[in-house]
Amino acid sequence: MRLVKTIYLDHAATTPTDPRVVEAMMPYFSEVYGNPSSTHSVGRKAERAVELARERIAGILNGERKEIVFTSCGTESDNLALRSFVVAAKERGERPHLLTAHAEHHAISHTAAQLARLMDVRVSWLPVRHDAIIGPESVYEALRGADGEPALVSLMYASNEVGTVQPIRELALAAHESGALFHTDAVQAAGQLSLDVKALGVDMLSLTAHKFYGPKGVGLLYVRDGVAIIPAQTGGGQEGQRRAGTHNVPLIVGMAKALELAYADLEAHIAHYRRLRDRLIAGVLATVPGARLSGADGDQRLPNHASFVIEGIDANALLMHLDLSGIAASSGSACNTGNPEPSDVLLSMGYAPSSALGSLRLTVGRQTTESDIEYVLGVLPDAVQRVRAVRESQGV
Ligand code: PLP
Repeated sequence: MRLVKTIYLDHAATTPTDPRVVEAMMPYFSEVYGNPSSTHSVGRKAERAVELARERIAGILNGERKEIVFTSCGTESDNLALRSFVVAAKERGERPHLLTAHAEHHAISHTAAQLARLMDVRVSWLPVRHDAIIGPESVYEALRGADGEPALVSLMYASNEVGTVQPIRELALAAHESGALFHTDAVQAAGQLSLDVKALGVDMLSLTAHKFYGPKGVGLLYVRDGVAIIPAQTGGGQEGQRRAGTHNVPLIVGMAKALELAYADLEAHIAHYRRLRDRLIAGVLATVPGARLSGADGDQRLPNHASFVIEGIDANALLMHLDLSGIAASSGSACNTGNPEPSDVLLSMGYAPSSALGSLRLTVGRQTTESDIEYVLGVLPDAVQRVRAVRESQGV
């Protein structure tokens, strides 16, 4: 057993903060500590840092400074997109229509379900293919004949659970041609796929810094100029009246630094991720009986993401075995680990509940090495075998 080093293969849950990001943030805790909303020079210094971060981020997104709204995380960004669209429609006396899917992160799917329950919002759940792709034709279909009704389509750029990359340009086009707005949760795509909002054609896009080697507790919502946002959280007039609350200056500075670092070296990171991911997928499929890749293949899959459904196992038991062998893995979504219910993402993709309970997600990162992958491939078949043997002995 190798207990010296933990092999961290859960980069979809979170990434370590890059030391260069920590260094960039440090002065903004106690040297440049002003409130960016204050009019005096101490506040203005902090405001300059926030505005510089905004400018840098807008550059990477190919957007405008005023189109960036800072938030506290990806969940808040997703909530802001959906809730502000609903509140704006309600204020005009209209019934809003949301279109999304059960394959989304709960920050979207649970928010949409709550809005349907409590706010009389019409929600259309789009069909999800077995590889988790959502076809643009389903957007046209769901919006056919819905003339004049304000509609927002919200579909994720890349899946946290199964790594599938959606055809975002085509989906955004389908929404626009049908008279709807389009939001994408790009939380998992950041640092791996282009975030050019103009090329993607999106109206809103959510990010969170901790998935691209930035700090936890800061995110953003890109809102295309011309799309009205009503704050989901009221209070001060920060962020152009779109998100009340004192700016978290160090974290905003850190997010901009992390995004710059991620996109400065994008090609090298992607090549590294792909090489390890492909070895991992080939190795698992070859050595673990009953393992199938979940989600899409090749270019329709996030470069760092390998996910499987393994028949006849309980994912949580497998994760415990792997942890004891020094491997940090996940069953799909960090928010769901420990939850004995099968993932609704896998159910929406057509997996039987018993299969969906056997999901394994391995996501590589900048520091992952080839020998880490070989170690995992050496440990996994035996761990699966043990978990299966326990289940069989219990007659499950
Ligand atoms: N959306 C997706 C696709 C995610 O993977 C996550 C985090 O796992 C979130 C939203 C939520 O982001 P945060 O943890 O910053 O709230």
